[in-house]
Amino acid sequence: MSSKDAPPPLPEPLLVPVADSHTHLDMQSGTVEEALVKAAAVGVTTVVQVGCDLKGSRWAAETAAQYDQVHAAVALHPNEAPRIVLGDPDGWSRQGAREAGGDAALDEALAEIDRLAALPEVKGVGETGLDHFRTGPEGVAAQERSFRAHIEIAKRHGKALVIHDREAHADVLRILAEEGAPERTVFHCYSGDAEMAEICAAHGYYMSFAGNVTFKNAQPLRDALAVAPLELVLVETDAPFLTPAPYRGRPGAPYLIPVTVRAMAAVRGIHEDTLAEAIGANTARAFDY
Ligand SMILES: [Zn+2]
Ligand SMILES: [Zn+2]
Repeated sequence: MSSKDAPPPLPEPLLVPVADSHTHLDMQSGTVEEALVKAAAVGVTTVVQVGCDLKGSRWAAETAAQYDQVHAAVALHPNEAPRIVLGDPDGWSRQGAREAGGDAALDEALAEIDRLAALPEVKGVGETGLDHFRTGPEGVAAQERSFRAHIEIAKRHGKALVIHDREAHADVLRILAEEGAPERTVFHCYSGDAEMAEICAAHGYYMSFAGNVTFKNAQPLRDALAVAPLELVLVETDAPFLTPAPYRGRPGAPYLIPVTVRAMAAVRGIHEDTLAEAIGANTARAFDY
């Protein structure tokens, strides 16, 4: 294993416990136990495990039922919904190649998400939203239909809505306004600028910052973090993706949260304990656990 592929070292522990508000343990190497023990050793005592398709959402719910430190979010990812409707001959998704199922197949999958969303260990509905980066124009209708349905499911079950917004800020905000956002709405891997942060703040939307807030080219993201109300700020790994600097490109995991928290505290000009305390309380409030 070259150092480029090696897991980054354990950071100095945070003295105030925090939560990783968005991770994908099922896409990381090692067992769930190993990931949780390593995370807890550095002060990351809670994780939200996010499902992206039916299989992943079922697994998230099962894992959350098994471990007190794990809460689940369930959904069809914005790039998954068009695959269900339009088919996926290349099997890009983890469920493999599949025939076009049309809107009926999407409705069937949404009914299963609805069923999972009712479970007490499921605290969030997501990640849902819009992804104009990976999904082309042919998939927009399915993506929007799926997003609107997830909003409705979150509201009906009183769960947090976890939003994936990739190059779709205006459309995500518009659809939230049209449907009426759930009481607790989280922009996962927040990617807007300071201006959008003001809009999110006005609506009480939580902004969850991932490792990319540490990237050299991410000044607009740091500007957004600088103006976001402290009580709406969360942190996440989105691991195995978006590993923070100086480990960018290497495999991510919840135990790397302290690296991102420290970079965020520097942006805010506050002590890491102060930020960690706010994030801990914010995450518990956002997901109601
Ligand atoms: Zn996402
Ligand atoms: Zn994710």
